[in-house]
Amino acid sequence: MKIAVAKGDGIGPEIMDAVLKIFNAGKVPLEYTFVDMGKWVFDKGFSNGMTPEAKHTIEELGLLFKGPMETPKGKGVKSVNVTARKTWNTYANKRVFQSLHGVDTVFSKAGIPIDITIVRENIEDTYGGIEHMLTQDVALSRRFITRPGSLQVIKYAFEMAKKNGARRITCGHKANIMKLTDGLFLECFQEVAKEYPELRSDDIIVDDLAMKLVVRPQDFDVVVLTNLQGDIISDLCAGLVGGLGFAPSANIGDHIAIFEAVHGTAPDIAGRNIANPTALLLSGIAMLRHLGLMENAAIIENALLYTLEQGVHTGDFGDKSIPALNTTAFADAIIGAFGKTPVHMARPLLPNAPVTQTAFKLNSNEMMVTEETQQEMIVGVDLFIESSGQPDFIAKKCQRHAGVKFNLISISNRGTQVWPTGSVYTNLVNQYNVRFESIDGSPLNQQDVLGLYVSLSGDFRICSSELLNMWGGKKAYSLAQGQ
Ligand code: NAD
Repeated sequence: MKIAVAKGDGIGPEIMDAVLKIFNAGKVPLEYTFVDMGKWVFDKGFSNGMTPEAKHTIEELGLLFKGPMETPKGKGVKSVNVTARKTWNTYANKRVFQSLHGVDTVFSKAGIPIDITIVRENIEDTYGGIEHMLTQDVALSRRFITRPGSLQVIKYAFEMAKKNGARRITCGHKANIMKLTDGLFLECFQEVAKEYPELRSDDIIVDDLAMKLVVRPQDFDVVVLTNLQGDIISDLCAGLVGGLGFAPSANIGDHIAIFEAVHGTAPDIAGRNIANPTALLLSGIAMLRHLGLMENAAIIENALLYTLEQGVHTGDFGDKSIPALNTTAFADAIIGAFGKTPVHMARPLLPNAPVTQTAFKLNSNEMMVTEETQQEMIVGVDLFIESSGQPDFIAKKCQRHAGVKFNLISISNRGTQVWPTGSVYTNLVNQYNVRFESIDGSPLNQQDVLGLYVSLSGDFRICSSELLNMWGGKKAYSLAQGQ
């Protein structure tokens, strides 16, 4: 079997060399095609951080094993790590956090075992990186949560939970505040949950989840979250099991998968051969299982667990009274432990059942659309305008533009209504949202909205706009705070 390998930047080459040394010693039947990705590729002028050959190879082979990569600061380029996940639609980011014997944490000392799998949506949310300055003072980030995107990752999480006999699957969200975006994600979770009555499923508000994970991590099993919340919660979970050195990550899509560690390039320790390769090794072991190389995975994982149990460690963890090993010596210790069985969590030696790497060729982009069952109707528009005036002054001006089709309904500033009712204690910035709705809720068309836009632009600079839609009698937009 062939896979693409990118060593990465910073500690990337050191830990990747250590892991491949362990794989080679374990006679893992993989052929590696090394591809060019990372900071030095940006520096060569490839603005997405990878060469066209690298892109071609990864799309041919369908599997990338990568070290961490640095995003050059201040060059206006996007992270190659995020580009890779998004371009190849690796929609599910699976991160497994398990207590490891030999890695002391508050919980291991208290005899509380942790085994949590975070499934994080990997494509959408604020990671779309669609951001604009609306005024000199006001930045806007668009947060996309879609039904097909949410369903993809949630279905993956349920299938995985079922396959692994999970005790519980939990949706973390903030639907109490972000009723449409997180509300949609939660709705998809509840919809999919109905197809898995045998699994115990529930949901929890993400801040409560953060607290409960710290207080009683043993209560959780599989947790599925949107992208940013999942990113934060998974680093919290990494902390529960001993830090980033023990946090593996798999980015799974229908055609391409990417395996990497959660941590970054660790520039503070790069080039010194002292980094901990465990997170990348655990990611590599997950990759072997993904490819059906069960026996190789178990032999290597048992050797790793045995090594950790013996108190062998790199400088970032472990018993300080035992001298730390460098990256290469740590890898050698694991190789020396091949064939040994750890006392705790020994993995069964299942036979290899390699998956067949079927060459796939997509000729066009897949369109994921949910069939519309509700009637859609435009009933108004939110126009985001720049102004340092007071709300009453803005209202008077706006009302002059409302014409015969619109009513000015509300004016808000940073999401808080300041007209027709509000409080003088609400601080303002120089960007308002003026909301116009159709008179008597009658349907509008885009030309009506454009007419209003053109008229209002005579008085204000319009920074942005959003249509107000009704779907099947339900408002498809949120109310301002206090509206
Ligand atoms: P980082 O994860 O690189 O480092 C955070 C801290 O953890 C540092 O003190 C570091 O020394 C330590 N650390 C991380 N991995 C370690 C390991 N294997 N062994 C021992 N110690 C380890 O995070 P950062 O400093 O915020 O980011 C550095 C760079 O990495 C940035 O350019 C960032 O964009 C990039 N990054 C890449 C990825 C990725 O490739 N997936 C992920 C995160 C950050």
